Amino acid sequence: MQTIAERLESARTRIEQAAIAANRLPNSVQLLAVSKTKPVSDIHLAYEAGHRLFGENYVQEGVEKVQALQELDIIWHMIGPIQSNKTRLVAEHFDWVQSIDREKIAQRLNDQRPAGKPPIQICIQVNIDDEETKSGVHPQQLDALVKAVSAMPNLCLRGLMAIPRAHSSDAEQAEAFKRMQQLFEQYHTKLTNFDTLSMGMSDDLESAISNGSTMVRIGTAIFGKRT
Ligand SMILES: *Cc1c(COP(=O)(O)O)cnc(C)c1O
Repeated sequence: MQTIAERLESARTRIEQAAIAANRLPNSVQLLAVSKTKPVSDIHLAYEAGHRLFGENYVQEGVEKVQALQELDIIWHMIGPIQSNKTRLVAEHFDWVQSIDREKIAQRLNDQRPAGKPPIQICIQVNIDDEETKSGVHPQQLDALVKAVSAMPNLCLRGLMAIPRAHSSDAEQAEAFKRMQQLFEQYHTKLTNFDTLSMGMSDDLESAISNGSTMVRIGTAIFGKRT
């Protein structure tokens, strides 16, 4: 059995090797450790191994962890769907929100961000495969949401996030990542601070990095299978 520190190290090595293979700088890809469903003690172990970026999917669970670990200098990312009645908790506790796909939720986060805290760092989630049931804004509606979020003073629009469909072939999977890269580049060249393309998980981080990902979100490969 490998320890969390060892698996974290292996994940970092995979990221570096994928970056080098893609002719990119090894430090051009950040690692977000996805700790959903895992105990606070696991986050502590990763923290002691030097890790600082953690992602949570469920608001209630995430807030409990933020509160339990508030003395640590962790940067917390919300990466799961957010209902209207949970926006205040998110605005009060999280540094980043990567799962914005509606103006209404963005507006509520903007209005409920406590005075004195820095703006929430935002990624817009894109439904890159146009799936019926998936979260994320459809690519045709992305422009309008980018404009709306950019105008909100308590939000800082940092980029895009996607969870492509589990494709049947590696080539199809890479196509989805490539479409994300093209969307990202359109805004990256025009907007200040728009520097984050969040895509790639435990099983597909190499393909995501070869198609421009700047942040991979890794759960299973660090913390083990979720039950
Ligand atoms: C769970 C989750 C991940 C991590 O997935 P793994 O396959 O366990 O690495 C990444 N992103 C999102 C949005 C998730 O919900």
